[in-house]
Amino acid sequence: MTAPRIKIDLHKIRDNTRCLVERLKPLGITVTGVTKGVCGHPGVARAMLDGGAIGLADARLANVRRMRKAGLTCPILMIRTPMLSQAGQIVETCEASCNTETSVIAKLAAAALRRGISHEIILMVEMGDGREGIMPEDLTNAALHVTRTPGVLLKGIGANFGCLADAAPTSQAMAVLSSLADETEGACGPFVETVSGGSSANLSWALDGGPADRINNLRIGEAILLGTDPVSGHPISGLHTDAFTLLAEVIETKIKSKPVPLKLSDPALSALSLVPGNHWTTRSILALGLQDTDPAGLTFPAAVIFVGATSDHIVVETTNCPLRIGSEMSMKMSYSALARAMEAPDVSKVLHRNRPLTEGAAGSRNGRITELF
Ligand SMILES: *Cc1c(COP(=O)(O)O)cnc(C)c1O
Repeated sequence: MTAPRIKIDLHKIRDNTRCLVERLKPLGITVTGVTKGVCGHPGVARAMLDGGAIGLADARLANVRRMRKAGLTCPILMIRTPMLSQAGQIVETCEASCNTETSVIAKLAAAALRRGISHEIILMVEMGDGREGIMPEDLTNAALHVTRTPGVLLKGIGANFGCLADAAPTSQAMAVLSSLADETEGACGPFVETVSGGSSANLSWALDGGPADRINNLRIGEAILLGTDPVSGHPISGLHTDAFTLLAEVIETKIKSKPVPLKLSDPALSALSLVPGNHWTTRSILALGLQDTDPAGLTFPAAVIFVGATSDHIVVETTNCPLRIGSEMSMKMSYSALARAMEAPDVSKVLHRNRPLTEGAAGSRNGRITELF
């Protein structure tokens, strides 16, 4: 089979989605599946919907286009503030978008009017992460502006935590967001339907029992895909952490002397440093590099030590069993390693299901479908 490749278990993605959907349901919180970590991979997106996600969200237009092209008709939310230059295309492909800039909202509205539709707006509020958001004191004015602009509909408000500031939200912050929903309604009149409280970083708050109050939606990517909490890095109980596996092929294994870290000015001394001592190690090279993934975000098998990476090579050290040329190594990926590998043209994506989704479908055998990009 071709290497490098990512093995994707769609059942595990569906299970993870379902598990979170069920656990958040008693709190009145729905799940929007975030697909940016897999570049809008349609199979993964469908697995999220099968697991009960009410819709999908992505940060890039190209990813949304890919899902639409694959026939996905569910609501899609653009979670990055749209580029002014893409307003027309956003309105064409996404039912809703997260917004913080009145000039962008005006352009979305004009584009929606031209198409004879209404585009839904989620106003993002800055709650301490330091990335996107309207300052809370400016929210009412922004909301009034949206309600008075034909072509756009105020669908709700939202916040984001744990991205730039790497801190999980407190229940106090969530209570503030709830009260902002009440305030917005008081000032603008229309019901604020969606209060999207955050991302996977909010799960420790939500799964601890909230209280959810007005928060009725979370936009979840990492927890569904990797089963981990992005703030602590710990696995979330009940979720699969092995839905994705990266496989790479070993192209060199040699016993090599460790380079001496000292810079020796005398060439004779430098030569001496290569004299065998206890500096010998077994090193292998994987045909995978910075162009394919984020090597710092890989978890290697036990007894394999990451040494370094260049654009096309990853060098590892093994302590007991030397790696055979042509053999494959399996690695777990962090969110950044996954996102880069999903985008890399030389990394093929192989979908695994416990049973074929379509019996006897072309390209599907033993529940395995290979997609080459
Ligand atoms: C990426 C992103 C999410 C999803 O974050 P995860 O940590 O993957 O759950 C949610 N909302 C916004 C605005 C994002 O940019």
